[in-house]
Amino acid sequence: MTDITTDVEREHSELLQFLYACPVGLIQADMNGRMTMLNPVAMQLLHRLGNASASMNVFAALEGYAPELRNMITSFSGNNGQICQGHRIHVGRPASHGNSIPMVLACTLVKLGPVSLMATLEDVSEQVAQEQRLKQADAWFASFLNGADEYGVVAIDADGRIQALDPVARQQTGFEEGDLVGAHVQVLDNPDPGSASMNITEEIEVARRDGWHLTEGWCAKRGGSRYRCQRLICVRGKMEVAAQIVPGYTVILRPLSHVGMDADQLRRRLTTDLLTGAYNRAHFFDVAEEEIRRCAQRDNAVGLICIDIDHFKTVNDTHGHAVGDLVLKAVAEACMGVLRSSGTFARLGGEEFTALLPSSDPSTTIEIAERLRAAIAVISVRIGELDLRVTASLGFAVRMAATVSLAELMQHADRALYAAKRSGRDRVVDSDAIPAAA
Ligand code: GH3
Ligand code: MG
Ligand code: MG
Repeated sequence: MTDITTDVEREHSELLQFLYACPVGLIQADMNGRMTMLNPVAMQLLHRLGNASASMNVFAALEGYAPELRNMITSFSGNNGQICQGHRIHVGRPASHGNSIPMVLACTLVKLGPVSLMATLEDVSEQVAQEQRLKQADAWFASFLNGADEYGVVAIDADGRIQALDPVARQQTGFEEGDLVGAHVQVLDNPDPGSASMNITEEIEVARRDGWHLTEGWCAKRGGSRYRCQRLICVRGKMEVAAQIVPGYTVILRPLSHVGMDADQLRRRLTTDLLTGAYNRAHFFDVAEEEIRRCAQRDNAVGLICIDIDHFKTVNDTHGHAVGDLVLKAVAEACMGVLRSSGTFARLGGEEFTALLPSSDPSTTIEIAERLRAAIAVISVRIGELDLRVTASLGFAVRMAATVSLAELMQHADRALYAAKRSGRDRVVDSDAIPAAA
């Protein structure tokens, strides 16, 4: 008897030690999100979201950032099992994050039983920022293949001194090897006077830290002229990571007139949702936060509309995923037609969209939301003999920009959206028209 008690106590104490030492946020909650246990890392991460009133409910704490979580849980039919793994939650830049890169959490949800959930939260901001950069490099390399005939290669040593140029680099710049070998690579840099962008020495610094750096800039030609090029600086050879010692770098110069994909195309690829052409979620957070800051400086209000297609699962189930995709495209197109330049429109995920309306008062916001609703309701997707119609529910919130964060605004608009769903769909609900706790 004593032995068992000791064993249980020991296990309990080991579990507690594990929870405290665990580098990942661990939360145990009931099916309504009420937290029954959270470890210090989880506490810290939730605290950084700056939503103190929601601190005892994990859904409420995350709602402004990941309203889809509640839905994922309610639509999970099993008694137990994994609901999602590493689901990315784009938090943006809460003041408490204290970092220049946007904060992203990875959330894994496991249903432990009929009344209990386990959530893990991990700060993956650094990893996502790195992925973003790699994606940029990927897109760049992909476009590279289209016009691979024209890139020059320059080898430089660890101090930035030129060791060799290939024939294409010689032809691009007009320099001969004898002109440049031994000179610092900055002789090939010819930025605009007073330009705020990095100079080549700073680019090399970044390459030393990250392994590579990609930029667009001006490259000097012999005789004083210059040409615009993309410049990739990569660490060459084996780097001693701990000591940050590099043997040298390879600089790839690619004149922009030969670029298969221009900077605009590249930007579009990184900022928009491929299916609908709307802004993607990550880019929306960047843009919307900036807009709210601008509105706050001018002491303006800001409006946010959340849009969710009604019974979209039925569209997929009845007509197939491809038709579902057509509907998503048509809905996005209709919304962008209504908004034109009056708002920032994005696909947040699945069949959920959002529009941020800077400097917008309640009456303008409701008018735009009604126009969005009406534009969606008249969409007709022709499938053989059938005209497929859809509707959407919309919730909106308008607040003074100086007093609200993007997360709070989304939370208000999302509550209104769910009120619109509950009260019959195909309608617009103002967050001020529902009780605070609804
Ligand atoms: P409600 O009226 O309550 O919003 O019901 P709903 O059926 O619209 O809501 P639910 O969130 O259950 O369904 C959303 C569906 O959207 C489920 C998912 O399969 C589908 N979906 C998510 N992303 C895509 C996509 O890119 N293409 C297609 N065709 N379907 C998608
Ligand atoms: Mg939905
Ligand atoms: Mg829906």
